[in-house]
Amino acid sequence: MSNPTIVSGKEVANKVKEEIALAVKQLKKNGGKIPHLAAILVGNDGASQTYVNAKVKACEKVGFESTLVQLDANITEQELLIEVEKLNNNNAIDGYIVQLPLPKHIDEQKVTEAIDPKKDVDGFHPVSLGKMLLDLPSFLPATPYGITEMLKHYNIPTEGKHCVVIGRSHIVGSPMSVLMARNTYPGNCTVTITHSRTQNLKAITLQADILIVAIGKPEFVTADMVKEGATVIDVGIHRVEDNSKKSGFSLLGDVKFDEVAPKCAFISPVPGGVGPMTIASLLKNTLLAVQLK
Ligand code: NAD
Repeated sequence: MSNPTIVSGKEVANKVKEEIALAVKQLKKNGGKIPHLAAILVGNDGASQTYVNAKVKACEKVGFESTLVQLDANITEQELLIEVEKLNNNNAIDGYIVQLPLPKHIDEQKVTEAIDPKKDVDGFHPVSLGKMLLDLPSFLPATPYGITEMLKHYNIPTEGKHCVVIGRSHIVGSPMSVLMARNTYPGNCTVTITHSRTQNLKAITLQADILIVAIGKPEFVTADMVKEGATVIDVGIHRVEDNSKKSGFSLLGDVKFDEVAPKCAFISPVPGGVGPMTIASLLKNTLLAVQLK
């Protein structure tokens, strides 16, 4: 193989956003409720601020209403839980997210569990994850959901394929492995989930028809780890210093794109791959929250 199909999350995300914008127009026309997404941001972490701003901007683009609740890094856990409760009780807000990570003195799990599952558009609440396991309609975690939409858009065959997932985080690797094993399309894969204690990782990744990489290490996956003709989806995002760029940095994924791409049938790039789909899926979940009301 030398000419892989580039799985452009940017392109799929634009299509999803156009569809959502149309749905919002229709809602407006019929006097329905305009979807309203809120985000809680605690502290001044640069990356979190960038992510939240991108989410708010995306809301504006599709015609949603949005609210940003910005809180001081020193807020106590109890004070944050009160803010969460306010959003739970605010009928104008259809869905909301609490941007992670939270400062160390706050228990993320406790905060996640305080979110009303009906407004849990990030899909991190145990109720959402449980429903996903049971194939019940629910808010799917945005990143894995976005990846399934990318596979669908490019008609990438999944049935009977061996899907190897690198990483077992609760927000990416674990839910991804569940979705790829589901009895539907995309899904019906034989799934292997790998993690920091996995031995002989390369021997396993070389068996992958579909390799989904969420390890959080820049350019970790190299050409010698990938089977000829595989589909590779790169979830990682890393800002690395790059003086040749005007911004002073460039973005790298978890996959060494230039050397891996020629071996692939399909590969997603960074940037322009999974990242834009995560936001698009969050918007989809917010629209779903309005529809489920
Ligand atoms: P994480 O750090 O929570 O998880 C990393 C996983 O990699 C862990 O489960 C760990 O067991 C596994 N791992 C570590 N070393 C390993 C090894 N040698 N072999 C196999 N597995 C190993 O990370 P995360 O939250 O899942 O995120 C992963 C990456 O994806 C990060 O770069 C993150 O920034 C990025 N990310 C991107 C998006 C997006 O929208 N594009 C969304 C979420 C996360």
